[in-house]
Amino acid sequence: MNIKAKNTSLIKTEAKRLGFLSCGISKAEFLELEAPRLERYLNQNFHGEMDYMEHHFDKRLDPTILVEGSKSVISLLLNYYPNKLQQEDTYKLSKYAYGKDYHFVIKEKLKELLHTIESEIGAVNGRAFVDSAPVLDKAWAAKSGLGWIGKHSNLLTQQVGSFYFIAELIIDLELEYDGATTDHCGTCTKCIDACPTDAITEPYVVDGSKCISYFTIELKDQLPESEKGKFEDWMFGCDICQDVCPWNRFSQPHKEPLFNPHPELLEMSKKDWEEITEDIFRKVFQKSAVKRTKFTGLTRNIDFLK
Ligand code: SF4
Ligand code: SF4
Repeated sequence: MNIKAKNTSLIKTEAKRLGFLSCGISKAEFLELEAPRLERYLNQNFHGEMDYMEHHFDKRLDPTILVEGSKSVISLLLNYYPNKLQQEDTYKLSKYAYGKDYHFVIKEKLKELLHTIESEIGAVNGRAFVDSAPVLDKAWAAKSGLGWIGKHSNLLTQQVGSFYFIAELIIDLELEYDGATTDHCGTCTKCIDACPTDAITEPYVVDGSKCISYFTIELKDQLPESEKGKFEDWMFGCDICQDVCPWNRFSQPHKEPLFNPHPELLEMSKKDWEEITEDIFRKVFQKSAVKRTKFTGLTRNIDFLK
């Protein structure tokens, strides 16, 4: 086995040991196909008030600008599909937000992976990214064969659907590169048909500024009256387009204890949510990504659903 193949195999084996679902690698280079797509997205203002998306246009398309001397983008998937879901008739939060904030959980794993690379292969210059604005994570994961980008614009696979986080390690080490997989959406339009705010404006194009995730998490102002009655009880994020996707019948529960929710969270009824106090908020969302909206943000969303 040549040295590149040996290093690649070591990294993929270590990624598996750390609990990642899969690991794919691409050459670090300008994302030519993504450039016009990103430009169109921004020009159409599909990012709404998410101003951070306008920044670092070149850096976002070219990892060699982001991490000097970088040679490879290592993409990793971490499953978050829960063992148990919230009760049926209640206000809902996206499944990714049930447990401890994924940024911390994944950063720790990426640090470990980098540490193994340094101790087994040698010193490298590398940076870890978890859902961070300058990296087009779905594009890299798709390029590395970890799945295809579906009509709802999420990455998905035939084996495990789409309920996982995507993270990257960008490093200055040459490795063996994977190729993209094929699209298996076919004639299906379930995600487009189910989206209550018509945010999927055409196959593969999501107007982020119309998405319930944007309204309930990113939008700092009042929620627009024009959207009243459309959120189908989603108070933090929205999983509708993923829940209806036929490939998600293959989702398997994750094995990461840190992603398990506070036991009370799954049992809370609509009434419990409507009466939530700041103390309960702090208790059930300790170290959770839901803290991003703060107590006032979540109660604003609940009031809007009533
Ligand atoms: S997350 Fe919800 S609102 Fe956003 S595109 Fe999917 S179904 Fe539509
Ligand atoms: S619901 Fe259908 S069209 Fe949408 S991502 Fe899944 S397979 Fe593709």
